[in-house]
Amino acid sequence: MFRTLLIANRGEIACRVIRTARKMGIATVGVYSDADSGAAHVAMADKAVRLGPPPARESYLRADLILGAAKETGADAIHPGYGFLSENAEFAESCAAAGVVFVGPPPDAIRAMGLKDRAKALMAKAGVAVVPGYLGDDQSLGTLTAEAEKIGYPVLIKAVAGGGGKGMRKVDGAQDFAAALESAQREAKSSFGDDRVLIEKYVTRPRHIEVQVFADNHGGAVHLFERDCSLQRRHQKVIEEAPAPGMPPKMRAAMGEAAVKAAKAVGYSGAGTVEFIADASEGLKADRFWFMEMNTRLQVEHPVTEAITGFDLVEWQLRVAWGEELPAKQKDIAIHGHAVEARLYAEDPANGFLPSIGTLERLSLPDDLRVDSGVREGDTVTPFYDPMIAKVIAHDATREGAARKLAGALARAKIAGLRTNNAFLIRALGSQDFLAGEIDTGFIDRHLKDLVPPHAPDDAILSAAARFVADDRPQTDDPWDARDGFRVNGASAQTVRFTAGAGRLGGAVPPGIEVLRLRNGDIAAMRAGETFVLHPYDPFESAEGAGVAADRIATPMPGKIIQILVKPGERVKKGQPLAVLEAMKMEHTLSAPADSTVESVDVAAGDQVNDGTVVVRFAKEAAA
Ligand code: ADP
Repeated sequence: MFRTLLIANRGEIACRVIRTARKMGIATVGVYSDADSGAAHVAMADKAVRLGPPPARESYLRADLILGAAKETGADAIHPGYGFLSENAEFAESCAAAGVVFVGPPPDAIRAMGLKDRAKALMAKAGVAVVPGYLGDDQSLGTLTAEAEKIGYPVLIKAVAGGGGKGMRKVDGAQDFAAALESAQREAKSSFGDDRVLIEKYVTRPRHIEVQVFADNHGGAVHLFERDCSLQRRHQKVIEEAPAPGMPPKMRAAMGEAAVKAAKAVGYSGAGTVEFIADASEGLKADRFWFMEMNTRLQVEHPVTEAITGFDLVEWQLRVAWGEELPAKQKDIAIHGHAVEARLYAEDPANGFLPSIGTLERLSLPDDLRVDSGVREGDTVTPFYDPMIAKVIAHDATREGAARKLAGALARAKIAGLRTNNAFLIRALGSQDFLAGEIDTGFIDRHLKDLVPPHAPDDAILSAAARFVADDRPQTDDPWDARDGFRVNGASAQTVRFTAGAGRLGGAVPPGIEVLRLRNGDIAAMRAGETFVLHPYDPFESAEGAGVAADRIATPMPGKIIQILVKPGERVKKGQPLAVLEAMKMEHTLSAPADSTVESVDVAAGDQVNDGTVVVRFAKEAAA
């Protein structure tokens, strides 16, 4: 077996790979950017090598530096994790040239699946059903329009080089086609440097069901059943599970067979995932699923497959890469119970799921089920990488049991210092339709109002925070540190005021609420997986200061302004989009905090901005 494994990744996946390597007696080497010098994966690895500055293209995407680190540390294999260089055929080739084993498929298999149109054509030839559509080289508007007509609306335009839902547009009718095509091409060009598209029939009531496959270098190929990843937001997975609810045995067999066929058709080796789209408008049917694409790496959601099969897929990857045969035969792989995974993100559902950067001043995750995390309390979520905090995975005999266990575990999580989607996940897992298995890729959009209800502190939260403020006396003698000023004497001597309301003192503090003071002086009150941040009302805080939030809107993180949607003098309604910011590889809409009038627009489309850059100022009268 390998002696030393370098993990060319960061965060939870680097930690997860290290865990298995350690179990197998393999020494580990971590790599890191300057933003990660104190990160969990660096602390966990036996050795760690600095790559470069924080941006991924100067660190985690630098194949030369990674190979240099492998040489320097004597690593005989490199595990790429997911993302970064994991599906980069040239990197796989460079590893081979440097005499280091790339833990992944052969470069040609990566290439064959790299472009959506080529992959689809290849699969069709191998006898795997693909979504009906147009895959041709002729990219003229005339041809594409005619092809869309032939396929029949609604159709989906996809960038052939696409990923992460970019360059993808659903078109409902001929009148919208030209405009949608143009914007898909523009996004594809800027994201992938390739504006070619394909057109597909848009599947109604789509369910995303994927099959885990594994192949070795001795002709062996198996599948490890399916995962359902239909709970998505903006084509990004949020909750995944295995097996797929309501899956007829006949369809499961057909999907497994098709996936293995796909792997064999490209001479696959190692772990891969074949993604299918299924039409669930009349329940799942064995003849209503089609190949979408193959991901030639380990997937984020692989733990649900590990939970139901009992196998360690990273161990399988390492054994296969070392040259061993697959650890199990198809007949020995079975489904045990049900597993559900939730992706806990540093993001703000109430604010369009905008990534939330900052320090995890409190982070306590349940320890009685599987948690794959790459951050610890005190760590910082930076704007440079994916803002995932953890994946939490529950396994139980039944789907309902697993969902309940997972929701219960998330409800015991305590997180403060930045916003998370935890309460949103808990609500999704507990919703009637989810528990009934009524899921498809439109689930989250349809249920958004229930999943992201108004987030206002109630009396119990306010009282707990009030008690905390009253008891929390600073150690210093500096009168400016004294918290007494927050207490309002006189008529309401028994209350502590926050900008969001007053909390009563006296009476018992409700159980199950944990309160702490954040570094900025705000109070975080955590209950049932939900965190409320309260700003102590300070009579000395000037009216001007109090109005800061309402009289302007600033960027929440560094990025690039890609669109300005309002003009000075324009009247805007609360929630109305003002500008679009591209940050952390996604587009974020900045919206009006209240009904107001735009006084000035301080940035222009194309501007690179820091966090805290003022984008729009509102007229004074309206802000008051
Ligand atoms: P990307 O590589 O950009 O993530 P995919 O081809 O994997 O794009 O598709 C992402 C998601 O878009 C799928 O999980 C599914 O929800 C939806 N989708 C893709 N193709 C179709 C289709 N033909 N009909 C309906 N939804 C689709």
